[in-house]
Amino acid sequence: MPLLLDGNVVATEVYKNLALELSLLSFIPKVVFILVGEDPASQTYVRAKEKKCGELGFQGETLRLPASTSQDDLLKLLQKLNKDTSVHGILVQLPLPPQIDRLKVLTSIAPEKDVDGLHPENMGRLCRGDARFKPCTPAGVVEMLKHYKIPVSGKNALVIGRSDIVGKPAAMLLLGEDATVTIAHSKTRDLKAMAKAADILIVAMGKPKFVGADFVNANSVVVDVGIHRMPDPSGKDKIVGDVDFEAVAPIVHAITPVPGGVGRMTIAMLMKNVVTAARLQSGPK
Ligand code: NAP
Repeated sequence: MPLLLDGNVVATEVYKNLALELSLLSFIPKVVFILVGEDPASQTYVRAKEKKCGELGFQGETLRLPASTSQDDLLKLLQKLNKDTSVHGILVQLPLPPQIDRLKVLTSIAPEKDVDGLHPENMGRLCRGDARFKPCTPAGVVEMLKHYKIPVSGKNALVIGRSDIVGKPAAMLLLGEDATVTIAHSKTRDLKAMAKAADILIVAMGKPKFVGADFVNANSVVVDVGIHRMPDPSGKDKIVGDVDFEAVAPIVHAITPVPGGVGRMTIAMLMKNVVTAARLQSGPK
């Protein structure tokens, strides 16, 4: 059986350390989540974030705006929150309705409050190797590898996917850990051979069960970022990843399950960023 990289175990450890950090702060961190529209998945994610804030003793407030909200109104709200010294972190839940330019919005969050780490300044710092905030899901991937003492330095890592939210920042973080990183995408040729040759395979492609037994070897460490809700004959939806877990797990050295893997880490790393934001803003200006 492979080593199972358990997101619950790692997230619990992150929360334990955060409780300690929180006890050293002389104030309660506050984060504002902005939800535009009624996308059901976004609503679930924001509720889970808000709930975790409550459990940790942070102030988590959700501002729910109608799907018809104009870009100007959203930008005005961000300006107000940027200036509000009681707010340490701001997160705009993606995706946004079509009338709103995502990049314009992400660029309008004060970089020191950008707890998702997606502001161009924070992305630039990530590339330079001195991230202020690490984007939550890729940061969770690296945290899991560290927790399970998976050697990364000098290893060949293949990241499948080049999104701004997962693939690119995951590659930058692995580079920061001295891996030799390749990024694959939909135009990549010989993907299977590249994947099979990699020591560490990070899969963030948004394609259910795409990665099968022919993508891996006995030493592969496989991290599955994908999350898909699939109809199941039982009538209850099944959550699967981008990796065909049943086919791949018996072959590889280590693997993350879905659910119970990377998905558990995203909120944990967000909460870590909220504490970092609070600390940054309480320090010398
Ligand atoms: P995305 O923006 O759709 O990006 C998918 C990437 O995969 C793209 O770069 C695409 O290449 C690449 N790709 C698609 N088909 C491919 C193929 N056949 N061969 C090679 N590359 C291929 O997705 P994302 O936002 O990064 O998310 C990826 C997955 O992670 C999704 O399942 C999502 O639900 C999940 N996710 C999970 C969490 C979490 O908390 N665990 C957080 C975020 C996302 P091109 O660029 O060439 O199109």
